[in-house]
Amino acid sequence: MPTAGTIREAYVEASSFLAAQGVAEAAACAELLMQHLLGCSRTELLFRWQEQLPAELANRWRQLIKRKAAGEPVQYITGEQEFFGLPFAVSGAVLIPRPETELLVEAVLHEGSRLFPQGAPLLADVGTGSGAIPVTIAHARPAWRVAASDISAAALEMARANAQRNGVAARIEWLEGDLLEPWIQSGLAPDILVSNPPYIPDGDLPSLMPEVRLYEPHTALFGGPEGLDLYRRMIQQLPQLPRIPTVVGFEVGIRQAGDVAAMLREAADWREIRIVKDLAGIERHVIALRDPE
Ligand code: GLN
Repeated sequence: MPTAGTIREAYVEASSFLAAQGVAEAAACAELLMQHLLGCSRTELLFRWQEQLPAELANRWRQLIKRKAAGEPVQYITGEQEFFGLPFAVSGAVLIPRPETELLVEAVLHEGSRLFPQGAPLLADVGTGSGAIPVTIAHARPAWRVAASDISAAALEMARANAQRNGVAARIEWLEGDLLEPWIQSGLAPDILVSNPPYIPDGDLPSLMPEVRLYEPHTALFGGPEGLDLYRRMIQQLPQLPRIPTVVGFEVGIRQAGDVAAMLREAADWREIRIVKDLAGIERHVIALRDPE
């Protein structure tokens, strides 16, 4: 375990310790944790390598490295994850936003601007977690109206804080409740509905990486026997909204895109249902489009 010395020595020692414990990307993790400990940027860290690690920080450093060695995601230890170029606070109450979801945001921004060239569409994010989706969209499209829901009050609290932090708090409305229920009750009519719901099949629990299985909230991960329960319920609820949204964008798990597209096709008339692959070539997003009313 790391002992006092220079910042560089503490870092080198910790990163080889983490690597020996089987931690993936041990060096990158140790660097992020050192930045977190010192409260400095990556560049600043480069200039501080030869400084002594302040004695009062040595103990905290050991604790951070211990948490990482136990398998905790580095984002929960630092409390931070970047998404779409913006900083987000994360805790065990919310899923860590993933880079694939940035592609969903991109697709929705693109379709929304195309279909509502001068309008102010209402975008709804269902199951917002950290608020990654509505915050980045509100930030990128100042004219859009944005609202987001979650069943978890703790997640909504975190999402609100993230909106505040990124200067869009006044632009986002928050709803608490299960899937489309709060939307149906509020009478809001979203033009664009987006969701990255829990979609891991329940039976996959044992095969998940411990980082995910032991630390991320299970309510944000699991979606029933085939992982499709939340899509099924949301799609069944669509006709109860004041009108079917012009754009529906879902993130889906491996081999789920075809089933989700079929459920959507069954539930409403669409001009087009598009399946978008992620950078790994996996069918990751299902985008259903209608003509604006
Ligand atoms: N919408 C959030 C995200 O994409 C949370 C998703 C979830 O918890 N399933 O990061």
